[in-house]
Amino acid sequence: MNQTTARSSGTGLRSFCERFIVRFGKEAFHEPEVLATEFRQYFGINGVPRLFYLKQLALNDLGIYEIGPQRAIGGKRGWFFKYGNNIELQYKVDDWDGSKEFTIAHEIREIMGVVMKDIYPEFVDVEGEELESEAEAFAAAFLMDKDEFYADMVACGFDPIWLHEKYHKSYIAIVSRMATILQPMKGCFWASVYEFDENAPQGFVVARCFHRSPKYIPRVRYRVPNFLFPKRGQLVPLKSNLEIASVQRRPVYVQQLKGLDFWEKYCLSVIIRPVLWGGKVAKLIVVAVPYRDSDKFQKQVLSIRPLVVQESFQVI
Ligand SMILES: [Zn+2]
Repeated sequence: MNQTTARSSGTGLRSFCERFIVRFGKEAFHEPEVLATEFRQYFGINGVPRLFYLKQLALNDLGIYEIGPQRAIGGKRGWFFKYGNNIELQYKVDDWDGSKEFTIAHEIREIMGVVMKDIYPEFVDVEGEELESEAEAFAAAFLMDKDEFYADMVACGFDPIWLHEKYHKSYIAIVSRMATILQPMKGCFWASVYEFDENAPQGFVVARCFHRSPKYIPRVRYRVPNFLFPKRGQLVPLKSNLEIASVQRRPVYVQQLKGLDFWEKYCLSVIIRPVLWGGKVAKLIVVAVPYRDSDKFQKQVLSIRPLVVQESFQVI
C-alpha cells in the first residue's frame, strides 16, 4: 500500500472513479459486479479482505481520513460523515468481524457515490432502497470475488459451511452469493437458512432467507418447488428431515426429494446442515440441486459423512 497517499478527500477513491468512468461509462457505476471487480483490480486486492486489511485500505489507499468502531446510531450498522474534504467512516462496535467487513464495504460504495458527485457535479446516485441494495451487492461482490468464489464453490461441492469458514460472512450472505453467482451460468440451485428463534412457537423454526437460481419464472411454476422453500420470516414446522438433522445434530443428505410436481419428474437432491452454537443447534442450512446434478454435491458429501436418506416425499 502506498503510505504517501494523501489521507484526505478520498484521493484514491477519486482516481479510481475517474478511471472507471473513462473506461466503462457512468451506467456501469450501477453494475455492482463490474464495479467491484474493477475495484479489486485497481487496488490490487486478492483473496478475502479481512477487517484489519480493510481499515488499512481505507486509510492508506482510498483516502478515507478516519475509520473506526462506534456505538450504533439507531438501527444502523455503518455510516459516514464528510466534512470539507475529509471522510470519516464508522461501523457498529458490537458486530462480529464478518459483519463489520460487510458494513465497511457497503459504506465504501455509498462514499463512492459522494466522490462521484464531487468529480461530476451533474451525477446523481440512486437513493433509498435502491442505493441500499446496490451497496449490498457491491459489498458481496467485493468481499467474495466472483471467479474465486465460484471455483471454491465447485471445489467444496457447494458446501455453505466450508464457504462460510473461508469467507467469514453470514450464512445468509454466503447462500445468497452462491445463488447470484450461479445465475448467469444457469445452474439450478436452491438454498435457505432456518433459525431456532426463542420467540418462535415450540416445534417451529424461522426461515431467514430463501434463494434460488435461476430466478423465479412464472411460466414454469409447476417445476419450481416454491411451496417447499418458504418466504423470509415464515415459520416452518420442524419435522421430517429437518427434525432428524436437528435432533441428531448431523448433516442429512436426501438423495431424491420427490413429489414436487404433478408428474414427479423433477426430483431434487437436498443437504441439510445443522450449525451448532454452544452445543446447541442454532441454524439449519439447506441447499438443493436437481437430482440429475447431484454430482455437484459429491465433494461435500464425502467430507461431511451425512446421514443418507434415499428418498423423501414433498417435505424436507
Ligand atoms: Zn447503506
